[in-house]
Amino acid sequence: MIRYHSLKINNSCLNSCSFCSEIKQDFFSPEKLNDFLNQPKLPESIKIFGGEPLTVDFLTDLVANLRRKGARRIMIKTTAAPLSDFNLTFNLVSKGAHHFEIEFFSFEPAIYQAMTNSDLSLELVLQGISNLRRLSLENGQNPFLSFRIIVNSANINEVTRNLVFLLKFRPDRFVLSIVPPLEKLDFTLEKVREAIKIANLNLIWLQTENVPFCLLGEDCYHYGELLTSSFLFSFKASKLKSCLECSASKVCQGVPSFYQELEDFRVSPLISSEKFEDFEFLKKEMERL
Ligand code: SF4
Repeated sequence: MIRYHSLKINNSCLNSCSFCSEIKQDFFSPEKLNDFLNQPKLPESIKIFGGEPLTVDFLTDLVANLRRKGARRIMIKTTAAPLSDFNLTFNLVSKGAHHFEIEFFSFEPAIYQAMTNSDLSLELVLQGISNLRRLSLENGQNPFLSFRIIVNSANINEVTRNLVFLLKFRPDRFVLSIVPPLEKLDFTLEKVREAIKIANLNLIWLQTENVPFCLLGEDCYHYGELLTSSFLFSFKASKLKSCLECSASKVCQGVPSFYQELEDFRVSPLISSEKFEDFEFLKKEMERL
């Protein structure tokens, strides 16, 4: 399990998603960034985000600096549209950005624009992803490519079609990030499970985000790692009475409120000694990082 240290460097985005809370979070001022860079030991894994970090003119220098000062893994979270500038993509990768997380909404331009409240061109996004895929690292491998697919009622019907569409870019990982608004819990979970099956069949790692372990039941293994990511904290979550008997309780923040508002919402806590041991292990791993 890798825990990334978050570095927010910007506050403006090319999108304007209604569920996004990133805009409210502070970003690193140049002075704070300088202090961060000058600390004796940098975290090994750093995730650069913040609106759209690729519009920040010092990003390439920052990546080079972080690498020089010991950061081994730098992930950039982006819409991918700025990667349509091949020179920018090439520079970033050659300076040491080898992990990219691309927030994706839909292969249908109208749905993409409706979910993001923007007129960002899907063509640019796809061009950016293609550019990234054209590059390889010194060891012959491609930069790590993860798609964070944002899922809510606007695109829930096409979750699996989005996955299949993105397979042509040979991703290394999918993250299904469930956000409000949702209409039906059962339907949402059915679609999440279908997506897990497709990713499994194609031997691609899939994680879920903002889905408590109990809602996925047996399918939760390996998929719930991001449950405690900072993203979840942007949604108010609470423990229910039934959480008291749940094996996952120690590592779980509870159920985000947008699930609790659904008509067919219910939870079945995970109860088994085998699961309890697994979650104890996960808790220790999380404390270690
Ligand atoms: S602690 Fe509660 S919300 Fe978390 S997995 Fe268990 S029952 Fe679900």
